[in-house]
Amino acid sequence: MKILFNRKFKLTTLLISLISASVLLTTIILLFASYQSERKSLIDTHLSLSYSKSEKISNSVNSLFKSMRISLQETTNFLSNNPEMTDKEIQEQLELLKNNSRYFNSLSWVDETGTVRNIAPISVGLKGKTITGITRDVIDSKTSTLTTPYKGPTGRIVVLISEPFYDSKGKYRGIIGGSIYLQERNVLNEILGNDMVDHTGSYYYVVGPDGKLLFHPDVKRIGEDVGENPMLVKLLQGESGKQHVINTKGVPMLAAYNFIPEIGWGVVQQTPVSYIDELLKKHIQNLILTILLPFLILMLVSLSIARKLAKPFIYLADVVNQFGSKNQIQPPVLQSHWNREADLLTKSVVIAMEAVEKNNKKLVEEAMTDSLTNLPNRRKLNEVMTNLANDGQLFSLVTLDIDHFKSVNDTYGHQDGDEVLKYLAKTVQLLIREKDMFFRYGGEEFILLLPDTKSLEAYNVAEKIRTAIENTISPIGKPITISLGISEFPLHSNLLNDLFLFADKALYQSKSEGRNLTTIWSLNLPIK
Ligand code: GH3
Ligand code: MG
Ligand code: MG
Repeated sequence: MKILFNRKFKLTTLLISLISASVLLTTIILLFASYQSERKSLIDTHLSLSYSKSEKISNSVNSLFKSMRISLQETTNFLSNNPEMTDKEIQEQLELLKNNSRYFNSLSWVDETGTVRNIAPISVGLKGKTITGITRDVIDSKTSTLTTPYKGPTGRIVVLISEPFYDSKGKYRGIIGGSIYLQERNVLNEILGNDMVDHTGSYYYVVGPDGKLLFHPDVKRIGEDVGENPMLVKLLQGESGKQHVINTKGVPMLAAYNFIPEIGWGVVQQTPVSYIDELLKKHIQNLILTILLPFLILMLVSLSIARKLAKPFIYLADVVNQFGSKNQIQPPVLQSHWNREADLLTKSVVIAMEAVEKNNKKLVEEAMTDSLTNLPNRRKLNEVMTNLANDGQLFSLVTLDIDHFKSVNDTYGHQDGDEVLKYLAKTVQLLIREKDMFFRYGGEEFILLLPDTKSLEAYNVAEKIRTAIENTISPIGKPITISLGISEFPLHSNLLNDLFLFADKALYQSKSEGRNLTTIWSLNLPIK
């Protein structure tokens, strides 16, 4: 397929576009590459950071529960060792422990029948009441327990950590249980910190073994079952790791999770991907600001080189264009150029134009010269006469015709006839002044142009020529004769056509008066 490009683009425009496009594309590619690698590194960094944070939280939670368990065990031991304690003393002991350790929102002794014997603080209002539900199961299990979140008798969502209580005689007396009110101020949020959502939008949450939320920045969600989340499934199976996730609100997140084997809980730390994008945006903005100045300098330098590169070609194109359209041919100034092609092209154009100019001059000269006699021809005559007339310069026009030339041709042949014409040309040229000009007008008719010469002086010149020819042996072995007619500018007319006509009439007069004569035109000449 052939594609035709009708639109012509300037070389400078092309070069500048090409360079701008290259520089821009390179910059975009660099920015894109930097964006990609920076994004990967930011994601890796944040995943690692999240992972170590979730690990730290796991460790804190784990040691917290160990301490809680020890504290409950110490309480059961204390109560076993002091069987004579009154109800009031036990109440005081529980109050003291609760207030000192600050581990629990409430601390209670629930006996083997499920009756709340003592509870600190007393304000919970359960003292003396019988508990059913999960606590009942815990009492019956007679083991150390940590429950999943459940709705307690006061309507709060709680987890219960308990130790079985045996009295000094080894009789099972229920449990000493510490409750944590998950949705209120508690030991977990005190230790883990209240700033669960930081400025980056990162947050963490804790999930229990049954997939229920134990700790979450959105308090309302505590107790919610999130066990179906594939990441949490892995987490609750005991895995730790990091990955991309979409949270329940559909926000993409970078998550790291850690399992706490001792209590079967999992900690998830996550950062929104949009925070990474925010950082990336800043990074790219900084990068653009950093490369802006070098970029502009590079662009300017490139553009200036493009201009310099294109300049000689534009100059040459202009010169060649004018060369074709103008009569006046001006070869370009030869300027050496640092670009090899531009240099070679300039030199070639100069050489070519000089050759064309020389040729042209030759052609013009040839076109104005008669090839047989080497005399200037009628074309040159017109030019010279026009110039003289335009300058308003006086001159005489002399027409000259060989007498009976036909018979020369007839008798001696055309070639000898030509020789006679050449001989006449040379002879006349030797007889005239330098500023005078002799033309071959056509056939065997010639014209003599005598600047600054009145017709009377021209007459003398004409006579001198006529007599010289008359007395000189020509190539045919004998003299020939010529007849002449004269007109004067501007005396006779200032119209060139009239001058020709008048000189011709004068010549005709010479012919009719017997030939071998010179006649100056005058009004008295008989009209033919
Ligand atoms: P006249 O005295 O009346 O001028 O007689 P003529 O014979 O010269 O008459 P005319 O001027 O009519 O003849 C011109 C002749 O000149 C005719 C032609 O054969 C001859 N002639 C014209 N040009 C050339 C040329 O270039 N070479 C030669 N050999 N002859 C030419
Ligand atoms: Mg003639
Ligand atoms: Mg003649």
